[in-house]
Parts: sequence; structure tokens; C-alpha cells
Amino acid sequence: MRTLRPSSSLFHRHAQSAAEHAFAEPARRAAPGPTASFDTFTPAGPVRVSPGTVTGYSALERQKLDRATAKLGEVLNSREFRDAVLAHTFAGKSGFASDERTPAEVYAVIRAAKERYTAVADGEVDLNLELRTLSWFQRGVVGYTREGSETITTNRRHFSGFDEAGIAGHLGHEWLHTLGFEHDFKATARRPHSVPYALGDLIEALASRPTLTPV
Ligand SMILES: [Zn+2]
Repeated sequence: MRTLRPSSSLFHRHAQSAAEHAFAEPARRAAPGPTASFDTFTPAGPVRVSPGTVTGYSALERQKLDRATAKLGEVLNSREFRDAVLAHTFAGKSGFASDERTPAEVYAVIRAAKERYTAVADGEVDLNLELRTLSWFQRGVVGYTREGSETITTNRRHFSGFDEAGIAGHLGHEWLHTLGFEHDFKATARRPHSVPYALGDLIEALASRPTLTPV
């Protein structure tokens, strides 16, 4: 889940969500494949973004969504994204908050694109998306995904105001949760440096650029 204002976490829609409570748990480490070498990880091909079930979007909203998912794919396949992930530091050291994995391991997990609800690491961003108008009390909630759910819900109140880059960043943030990346539930000082927040913001920033270099 991504909120715009720290205070809005008081109205967190899914306070029971395990994914959002992970700050209490030790960070999990990725299980490296038998022949995986993170230092020399080379994707077999470009990451594809594949919207699956899409509900609640009008035709016009769907057009905007499609432009955003195209941007998301362009960013994930860019040299700029790869270099920024690999160079990421937190608290003066290589890495991210709330995660023990190295940037190279984080990047490898992203490129493998193995969501918790898909059987194989297919290098494909599998997105099931729902657009809903959340209640006024949840107005600070941009969107969320829950452990055990295959759907990323987006709040129409924010979707309408976001440009394609903003939507790409939001979808990137929630998709990173589906890969197992987590962050503090509360708006802690380190939360912006977690994988979902840091890379969601990075995706948004890169999606705003007129051109990117394919990796
Ligand atoms: Zn989140």
C-alpha cells in the first residue's frame, strides 16, 4: 500500500494485512537459484507487462492505464532503472531499508518477476487490476494489494489526478509487494528507503522522462 500523507496511515484500509506488518518480522532472503550469479545476472529478454483481469476501469480510464503500464515496462527494461537499483544505498550502505538483500539480488528478483500468485519466474509482470472509489475516510490511500490476493486495487480518487508516470509508480510499488518486498506499516523514517517506496518513486521519476535507454 502506498499513502500520500503519513497521517493517512491511520485510516489504513488493511491494517491486518500481513504484507503491511512485515516490519515486525526479519527480512526474508531470496533463495538463489542453483546457477544464479547475481553479479552477472543477465535477463533472457525484456520484461513484459501483462495486464490480466482488469475491472472497474471505464474505456477512458483503461486507455490511461494502458499508457501507464507501457511506461512501467519501458522503465523496468531501462538501463537507468537497472543502474539506479544497483547503486541504491540506505544509511550509508549499499541496499534498502527493511530488506537484507543486496541491490543485485533485488534487481534479479525484479527481473525474474515471480509474483506470489504465479507458478514460475516468467520475466513477466502479471497484473490483475481493479479501480474503485474508496471512501472519504480512505482518501489518503492510493491503492493496495493484500497477501493472499492477486489483485492490485487503485483508488479512483488518486487515479484521476495522477499522470501516467504517477500511475506507473503506484503500480510498481504494489507489484513489488507481490514479489515479496515489504515496508514498515507506519510512516517511519526508513520507510521511504524500502524497496516498494524507493523503487515506486524511482519508477515514477523515470516514467516522466521523454526517453530511456533499453538495457
Ligand atoms: Zn505498500
